[in-house]
Amino acid sequence: WTEKKRKPDWMKRVVPSGDKYTGIKAKLRELKLSTVCEEARCPNIGECWGGGDGHTATATIMLMGDTCTRGCRFCAVKTSKAPPPLDEDEPDNVSKAIAAWGLDYVVLTSVDRDDLWDGGAQHIAKTISLLKERTEGRLLVEALVPDFQGDMTCVKTIVSSGLDVFAHNIETVERLQGVVRDRRAAWKQSLGVLAAAKKMGARMTKSSIMLGCGESREEVIATLQTLRDHEVDVVTLGQYMRPTKKHMAVSEFVTPEAFEAYAKVAESMGFAYVASGPMVRSSYRAGELYISNVLR
Ligand code: SF4
Ligand code: SF4
Repeated sequence: WTEKKRKPDWMKRVVPSGDKYTGIKAKLRELKLSTVCEEARCPNIGECWGGGDGHTATATIMLMGDTCTRGCRFCAVKTSKAPPPLDEDEPDNVSKAIAAWGLDYVVLTSVDRDDLWDGGAQHIAKTISLLKERTEGRLLVEALVPDFQGDMTCVKTIVSSGLDVFAHNIETVERLQGVVRDRRAAWKQSLGVLAAAKKMGARMTKSSIMLGCGESREEVIATLQTLRDHEVDVVTLGQYMRPTKKHMAVSEFVTPEAFEAYAKVAESMGFAYVASGPMVRSSYRAGELYISNVLR
């Protein structure tokens, strides 16, 4: 459980490569799709997009524009009280492009749109159902969604869209919620959304925790237990990386051994799948968990 303050060797990024990766990148330009993987310069792009080695090709697409109505202290996305209106053609265009891409598993995520009457729930749900229709159900879809300010009608809209995995991130331990996340995000609200999604029939629910924000080991373990108590099936733990100097500082670099130890603790609590490591992001090799836990 040792810690280091300076960026350690294990956080060095690997340059993505491989024929499949290069092919996907070319196709993306052709389809005019923008991915979180590229925009966030995610270090896992080679692994996620490339597939092979026992997991499926996965990518993360951002819906509803590039401007969020919230401002979390760890997040590099632009903020505005009144972002531009939704592109009504997005569900159609994005689902066509993803279906043509030939991915096996897609993660749809979005900014929070507290300015919209339904937080964008119908827009996301429409994209999911069109994707399922266009790929005849072959493509597995995970949606990483906002808390919709706790509006369970919106949660129901998403769960009923035909998605495979309902994901919503708790991000950090209870004590640090107000420090790390926008004040409109709340511990109980997020847990309520996850529990409701499961009760409403979501096949799998998933949440993620960032480490290195000032949390203690005991708090991480308590958070894992709370997620499990709310019937969350899948959990991921990764290292927080500061996007710019304006964002919250990293309080520690958690060692790979500590991540490993958290994985063991989480597995012993009965999660169906756990991904834990310095480079793990909430969508890291997301398809793998589906393949190993549901299809097989
Ligand atoms: Fe970023 Fe999501 Fe927070 Fe918006 S709600 S600032 S997209 S983490
Ligand atoms: Fe994309 Fe997520 Fe994989 Fe990063 S971890 S490459 S954002 S799918």
